[in-house]
Amino acid sequence: MFIGHFGIAFILSYFFPSIPLWVFLTAVSFPDLLWPILVLIGKEKVIVNKNNPFMSDVKFESYPYSHSLMLSSLFYCISAAIFSIILENILIFPLFLVGTASHWFLDYLYHMHDMPVKGFGKDKKVGLSMWKNGPVAFFIELIFYLITAILFLPSRFVLSAIEMGLIFHLANSNSFFGYIKKNSLGGYKTNAIMVFVGYFLFIVLGGILT
Ligand SMILES: [Zn+2]
Repeated sequence: MFIGHFGIAFILSYFFPSIPLWVFLTAVSFPDLLWPILVLIGKEKVIVNKNNPFMSDVKFESYPYSHSLMLSSLFYCISAAIFSIILENILIFPLFLVGTASHWFLDYLYHMHDMPVKGFGKDKKVGLSMWKNGPVAFFIELIFYLITAILFLPSRFVLSAIEMGLIFHLANSNSFFGYIKKNSLGGYKTNAIMVFVGYFLFIVLGGILT
């Protein structure tokens, strides 16, 4: 999942308007900002088939540090504390953790059975595999994003949020529809870099536009 995560940031910013939106955008993205770095330094493993564009075919072999429910949450306590201290707002600590936890639960809906629960020891891997039906997954994610943007963002930001969401989601659409039979992101390294760049760009643009 990509733009769908930002829907949770819109909801959080609605209930806590004193905290800048970019903080929530960062929190919900955090696992996917950390994951590319861990993949590139060899701490987490993914296998990307260059001849298959679908997300359901990407094999997340190991990602306990960035994408487990328990171990990752422990690490995210550190990032939540850092954000909370730098921005001098104690409320950011629990809200940042809500954002990172929401990432796990939304990924759980979309990922195949590869999401670690504990992240250590004898672990259970879960995932509801919604990526198996690419077109349905595409529209559910888009609709969720649009509804949260319309309902929870201040009206003056809604149009730019919709435009941004559409652009980013369409840029990612081949992984749902597979109209180009090659994986447009290439191998696992370019895949990891593009994921990082995608989230980073959205956070920066979202922060500027709102
Ligand atoms: Zn993720």
